[in-house]
Amino acid sequence: MFKKILIANRGEIALRIIRTCKEMGIKTVAVYSTADKDALHVRFADEAVCIGPPPPQESYLNIANIIAAAEITGADAIHPGYGFLAENAHFAEVCADHGIKFIGPQPEVIRIMGDKALAKRTMKAAGVPVVPGSDGPVETLEEAKKIAKAIGYPVMIKASAGGGGKGMRIVEKEEDLEHLWNIAKKEAKAAFGNDAMYIEKFLKNPRHVEIQIMGDQYGHVSHLSERDCSIQRRHQKLVEESPSPALNQELRERIGEAAVKGAKYVNYESAGTMEFLLDEDGNFYFIEMNTRIQVEHPVTEEIFFYDLIKEQIKVAAGIPVSGRFYYPKERYAMEVRINAEDPFNDFMPSPGKITSFHKPGGHGVRVDTHAYAGYVIPPYYDSMIAKLIVSDFSRKGVINKMLRALEEFVIEGVKTTIPFHIRLMQHPEFVKGNYNIRFLEIYGDELLKP
Ligand code: ADP
Repeated sequence: MFKKILIANRGEIALRIIRTCKEMGIKTVAVYSTADKDALHVRFADEAVCIGPPPPQESYLNIANIIAAAEITGADAIHPGYGFLAENAHFAEVCADHGIKFIGPQPEVIRIMGDKALAKRTMKAAGVPVVPGSDGPVETLEEAKKIAKAIGYPVMIKASAGGGGKGMRIVEKEEDLEHLWNIAKKEAKAAFGNDAMYIEKFLKNPRHVEIQIMGDQYGHVSHLSERDCSIQRRHQKLVEESPSPALNQELRERIGEAAVKGAKYVNYESAGTMEFLLDEDGNFYFIEMNTRIQVEHPVTEEIFFYDLIKEQIKVAAGIPVSGRFYYPKERYAMEVRINAEDPFNDFMPSPGKITSFHKPGGHGVRVDTHAYAGYVIPPYYDSMIAKLIVSDFSRKGVINKMLRALEEFVIEGVKTTIPFHIRLMQHPEFVKGNYNIRFLEIYGDELLKP
């Protein structure tokens, strides 16, 4: 087992990883930018190394400084968390070159699955259903026109390097293609430094259903069923729950088995998520894979009492997984993302000082956060300040508990998404489990107006 793990991240996920390391008797090294010198992950780690100024390029994305920090402190593994360098194949290679274990999949797997067009092609070859569309990247506008016509409008233009809902455009008709093609390409270039694009059919009212998988170094892959992440804004998740109200056991087993088949095809090691869109007729299609731990992983941890970070660390150290398929039994969990944003003003970021902070507690309530009273939210990083996760024996119980916990949560000094979540938990269609990725578009007036 590893003796010391460096956590190449910040915020709640850095804290989350430190907690599991402590429970496993592994020493921890935090890294931080000067903007985070007072952050909790710095205080709670055994050692901490400053890796640069606030801009991510100079600190949390600064590979040379992070590797130097690992070498100085004698860390034998690096956990990248999510975001920053978590899906950077080059970083995973540099770690290996320095004899440091990267806690995640092999660099070549990150490379394949991190390129969304290539990932789709690979999953198709593995026999996993994918959204109909181009076979790999599309080079020219003329080619795009031809493919769009063949699959039929509306279509979606997507960036191969995409993430966070960026570089993506819905095209309703051929006249709009040229214009939106150019915009999406520019956005992709600016956000990812890569403007390779691909095209797929735009599905009308799908749900986003993803499967948590865990693979080891010997070709075994377990899955831990699904999370439904259909409550989104601008293609970014706001709420996640498991089990999905849209799946029966038969469909759950089929999606789970498809995910495992795909993961085995690339010899997937570590935690990963296979994301699918599920249409109204029960057809499901692979859209992408996240080759890392995800923000919403606690939902799965709560329904199975399974520490995904611990399992990631064990797998990285060469311990095999069972290859079991886990199915939920009388246990429900939901997570809401609490961002420092004003939900009633187009989710405008609201950085600044948290003047008062009280987190909810009680049975079945978990709060993963790095925030505290007096904490100043730096403007340089993402706006998520807490994840509230609740679990219970029924979906109704979860919603009641979530509402109670949200009402108990006090965060003053900055605007947060709590008031939005309070409304959502009382929305009759949400309560019925009757929602898809367009929910906020449809009910925006009720949910997002002051
Ligand atoms: P990103 O990598 O930016 O997260 P994804 O490919 O995972 O992008 O898609 C994000 C979200 O966009 C999905 O959860 C879904 O809501 C929507 N979406 C993606 N592809 C399609 C599609 N073909 N049809 C309809 N909606 C889609």
